[in-house]
Amino acid sequence: MTQDDLFKNIIAHAKEYGFVFPSSEIYDGLSAVYDYGQMGVELKNNIKSYWWEAMVRLHQNIVGLDAAIFMHPKIWEASGHVGAFNDPLIDNKDSKKRYRADVLLEDYLAKQQEKIDKEVEKGQKRFGDAFDRVQFLSTNPNVLRVKEKIDTISQRMSEALHKNDLEGLRQLILDCEIACPVSGSRNWTDVRQFNLMFSTQMGSLNEEANQIYLRPETAQGIFVNFLNVQKTGRMKIPFGIAQIGKAFRNEIVARQFIFRMREFEQMEMQFFVRPGEEMNWYNYWKEARLRWHTSLGLGPERYRFHDHDKLAHYANAACDIEFAFPFGFKELEGIHSRTDFDLSQHQKFSGRKQQYFDPETNESYVPYVVETSIGLDRTFLAVLSAAYTEEHIAEGESRVVLRLPAVLAPVKAAVLPLVKKDGLPQKAREVWQLLTYDMNTQYDEKDSIGKRYRRQDAIGTPYCITIDHQTLEDNMITLRERDSMTQERIPVSAIRSRILEHISLGEALRKI
Ligand code: ATP
Repeated sequence: MTQDDLFKNIIAHAKEYGFVFPSSEIYDGLSAVYDYGQMGVELKNNIKSYWWEAMVRLHQNIVGLDAAIFMHPKIWEASGHVGAFNDPLIDNKDSKKRYRADVLLEDYLAKQQEKIDKEVEKGQKRFGDAFDRVQFLSTNPNVLRVKEKIDTISQRMSEALHKNDLEGLRQLILDCEIACPVSGSRNWTDVRQFNLMFSTQMGSLNEEANQIYLRPETAQGIFVNFLNVQKTGRMKIPFGIAQIGKAFRNEIVARQFIFRMREFEQMEMQFFVRPGEEMNWYNYWKEARLRWHTSLGLGPERYRFHDHDKLAHYANAACDIEFAFPFGFKELEGIHSRTDFDLSQHQKFSGRKQQYFDPETNESYVPYVVETSIGLDRTFLAVLSAAYTEEHIAEGESRVVLRLPAVLAPVKAAVLPLVKKDGLPQKAREVWQLLTYDMNTQYDEKDSIGKRYRRQDAIGTPYCITIDHQTLEDNMITLRERDSMTQERIPVSAIRSRILEHISLGEALRKI
């Protein structure tokens, strides 16, 4: 199965089992907007808790915040979003399709990289065990030719983006002979800047002054509340403020399912530090965040750092944690050392001091900030795509199982009476009662037991509990484990603690 087919199957599965629906589907949908269904909302809430508790509960010097989505419009001038939160867009005159100029070039570069990967594959086949990858990459003439091309194009692209040279970007698209994937033509318009913020009107007057924005990131809500939280919480530097909330971006090219949406959720933490100490904290948070990701058990090989060589004007260090999605390694989280840019800008634009008095040094200063910013929806997609497994289990028998981390699974246990009679449903409901105050539990008595197991596998339920006639006599149930499908008889009195041990958030946090 190709990665493309795999991704299509994951999207179809997400819909079929109530994880993610296209928004406004009965009206043919709304581009790049999605709704989370009955299973999706549980998984999403569990991811939020895993992040929130790891940030706020495990760090005495990190507290939470829930700022409003609407904010004073001047905030977005101060932050630079009104002036510079732009993407370069280009239209194909024949297909009338719109693209991000930088994405067209990145896709082109990815295709060149694929050519190198194919050469490596060919080399591996030809030389077998004697194949030396490093030597091959540094000597094979085909590889070297493509590599040089990639370097030149990347260099020209990053210079054009940095200098805001829109004509340069267009020329590069023409020089690379990039054609529109829909029309196949190279009939391109000029490249224009497009601001990604959604705006709307507040109040009844339709005046310019009432124009406000839907926040494109949650971070600014934290910056403008920095002193409120610091003073009322008597916080001492270094300390952090964490927030989970919606953000909105009018993305030009919204694709890849919930990877790039126009309405999405971020989980951000801004960590305020003494000027000069930001690099230590930046490195600390890089490691801490990677540890959080790998603690989910999806496999360390699915993550990698991507350090930024070209930094945004406000940053003095930045990297992404990338995840191996079905469509390749892509950004999942950003870690940025933002200097004192944001607080200084708000000081300037609001006319209010944004300083901290440090009792240890007897000095007042504008703190520096290290930010960790992760997309909730992207984490959802990462978890879902890593968990999705199509499995052949026996002759002519297969199953789709979501091998979700137990702590994140929407349903933790399913209680299944073997048959719908002989007092088994009553006994099963008793067991359900026993568990339901501690965990999300389903009761299911429809269809054969095999079908019921498949349904629970498909939503990633770690445990199935089967009640049979024997249960009525010896008070023992069959506990079936999702991944190994092993079954074991245990007493009813032992089920609760047995399952709790594996699904408990506390236990999972302890292992980070
Ligand atoms: P990208 O380069 O993919 O557009 P970004 O660098 O603009 O992302 P940030 O501004 O650093 O992203 O936002 C922090 C995080 O928010 C990202 O790592 C990502 O997980 C998430 N995110 C950003 N834009 C979107 C979006 N349109 N849909 C879903 N998640 C998003």
